[in-house]
Amino acid sequence: MKIRIEIISEKCIKCKDCIEICPVDIFKYNSEKELVEIINPNECIECCGCVEICPTNAIIHSICSNSY
Ligand code: SF4
Ligand code: SF4
Repeated sequence: MKIRIEIISEKCIKCKDCIEICPVDIFKYNSEKELVEIINPNECIECCGCVEICPTNAIIHSICSNSY
């Protein structure tokens, strides 16, 4: 099944913790747009680290979030 990951931009405080923790580099900071982007969600290994570390619950993940 295809993994769906979203960042709720209004909730994201751009701490970049998700970028640091993701072992397969799903998240990338776009300095032009000044937001965190999801670049290759199909590489996700479902470790759920991003959802757990995000201080504002800005990440919605089809496997790791309680509700999508
Ligand atoms: S669940 Fe793990 S592998 Fe997938 S995006 Fe989050 S940190 Fe990266
Ligand atoms: S961990 Fe959450 S708040 Fe921090 S940059 Fe990632 S999505 Fe934004």
